[in-house]
Amino acid sequence: MNTASRQNLFSLDRQRLEAFFQALGEKPFRASQVLKWIHQQGITDFEQMSNISKNLRQRLAAKTDLITPQEITHHYSEDGTRKWVLQVDSGNAIETVFIPEEGRNTLCISSQVGCALNCSFCATAQQGFNRNLSVAEIIGQLWLAEHSLRPELDIKPGQRVISNVVLMGMGEPLLNFDAVVAAMRLMMDDFAYGLSWRRITLSTAGVIPALDRLKEQCPVNLAVSLHAPDDKLRDQLVPLNQKYPIHDLIEACQRYLEGENRKRITFEYVLLKGVNDSTAQARALVNLLRDVPAKVNLIPFNPFPESKYQRSSQQTVDRFREVLMSANLITVTRKTRGDDIAAACGQLAGKVQDRSRRQTPVIQPSDLTT
Ligand code: SAH
Repeated sequence: MNTASRQNLFSLDRQRLEAFFQALGEKPFRASQVLKWIHQQGITDFEQMSNISKNLRQRLAAKTDLITPQEITHHYSEDGTRKWVLQVDSGNAIETVFIPEEGRNTLCISSQVGCALNCSFCATAQQGFNRNLSVAEIIGQLWLAEHSLRPELDIKPGQRVISNVVLMGMGEPLLNFDAVVAAMRLMMDDFAYGLSWRRITLSTAGVIPALDRLKEQCPVNLAVSLHAPDDKLRDQLVPLNQKYPIHDLIEACQRYLEGENRKRITFEYVLLKGVNDSTAQARALVNLLRDVPAKVNLIPFNPFPESKYQRSSQQTVDRFREVLMSANLITVTRKTRGDDIAAACGQLAGKVQDRSRRQTPVIQPSDLTT
């Protein structure tokens, strides 16, 4: 069967789904009904969509698909964190991480297969970049986590498992702008997941033009991966800085907050032993952030095979934090979660075909049975 011409309904946010139904000669409210079946009920069999006429159900079955990434494996961490490895096509897999905490359940989702930014301390960078994920592949991660965990966690009807989403998995979300925005609209849609923008955080290395577009099109919480207080060091750690240097980035952050009720931006700072963790650098960071409402998230470095950095000692982390706190900068040290299953920040690697897009699948059939 030729699936290329079939519409995958997971790829459509409400506006596009309404347009789709109108093109079929149907009323736009069908979109809300179908969104509810798919995203709230977790139903992907049209036959079960009982408030849709038989005729329309048959037309949908004939013309459309409901396809999400497929689970290859999942891993449980001692601390309750769970990581799924999901196949998105014959050669590529991505990773999604579920982080349960007191009072909230966060899902960390991927936006690209691999990443093009080449940050020197990140495992995803080593995989290179293969392609952007589609809307269906992004929202499909939330769908899969929500609906596979519901029965397991004994969630009551009307309640949801995932309370917060962070776009902090593999990839740079702002380099896959349109798909990420459509997926976030679905996350916020009352007929889909109904999450407030306050519960969605997009993490970026700082693609400045896209930040301005995000403010216009889909303002959510922003986390900016800073990692260095000066251009010289940041150029090395986050090569994107050579294109969008720190001061321009800080200005873009100020614009992002302007006139909105968002209170502050989170700046992420991975502490690398002897590289960016001195008290002088902490003071430079205070100075840099003095004019932007900020919260700093200090991230202990998570090692991965062949990484050239080391984690700063607890004492150094505490000292760095102390400098920020005494300058009244809200600072939290991120608790490392899921590092025993390589699910912690910067450890997500998935399986990515190399940049030359080899034809030989890198996923072996044996991977599918483990
Ligand atoms: N491209 C986006 C989102 C993915 S990274 C971004 O740069 O923000 C999510 C967070 O994990 C970022 O702050 C990133 O810098 C951090 N991170 C990457 N590698 C890490 C590592 N090895 N240890 C700890 N944190 C890491």
